[in-house]
Amino acid sequence: MHQRSGYDGHTHTSFSDGRNTVVENVRAAEAVGLECVAITDHFFEPGEWFDRMLAGINVARQRCDVHVLAGAEVVIMNTEGEVSIGPEEAHKLEIVLADIGGRTLGIATDAPSTKARLLDNVTTCMVNACQNPLVHVIAHPFNLGRFPLPVYITDIPKTSLRSIAQAFVDTDTAFELMNQMHWWFPDVPVERFTRDYAELVGLFAAEGVKFVLGSDAHSAGAVGNLRWAVNLVQLAEIPPPQIVNLGKLHSESGGRR
Ligand SMILES: [Zn+2]
Repeated sequence: MHQRSGYDGHTHTSFSDGRNTVVENVRAAEAVGLECVAITDHFFEPGEWFDRMLAGINVARQRCDVHVLAGAEVVIMNTEGEVSIGPEEAHKLEIVLADIGGRTLGIATDAPSTKARLLDNVTTCMVNACQNPLVHVIAHPFNLGRFPLPVYITDIPKTSLRSIAQAFVDTDTAFELMNQMHWWFPDVPVERFTRDYAELVGLFAAEGVKFVLGSDAHSAGAVGNLRWAVNLVQLAEIPPPQIVNLGKLHSESGGRR
């Protein structure tokens, strides 16, 4: 067998809105030569699905020659940085991604009427989410182009970006480079978006922030598709030590806190 390398830190299965099973995603990861794949279904609320998901991951671990991280993608509920998972479930996982989503109060719902106040909420929300000890990674940061009051990357003041970057560094929270990030900005040409996002990511890299790569695959066929994210690593000139090796995270036991 060839030496496996690389990982995909963000995939969905039929336990949330993905098309395929856990085993199918993990087999796809094995087929494309990844060392490690994270199963990160949406966690809106606890339920018996959660234990079935953990059991599915154990089956996949027995059947495939890939490290499988048990994870979830949780919603940041409000600007205080509270999330949709509790400690009991979170502590059964190896990786918790958190994002601003359609249910985030003060940004996606009940948002202020001015862009300046919305941007204040975004800053507060992200700083507080980093400080939430249940959160390891902020998924697709600044995915703000599809909410009722859309915000583009270059609208965000540099001072806000620096204080958010500081929160990432202080709490050792990782910034996800999500391969389908352009989806959040449907009216912006991909090339322009890539350039603008690379500049933002470069600022975070210069502040010492760590990064995780993820496809956000919703089907087995998209697992391991990280070409855009890898391109971004180069464009933003991220030093290799600032890319978290999730394969290594798996072999060390326990989380970072
Ligand atoms: Zn996702």
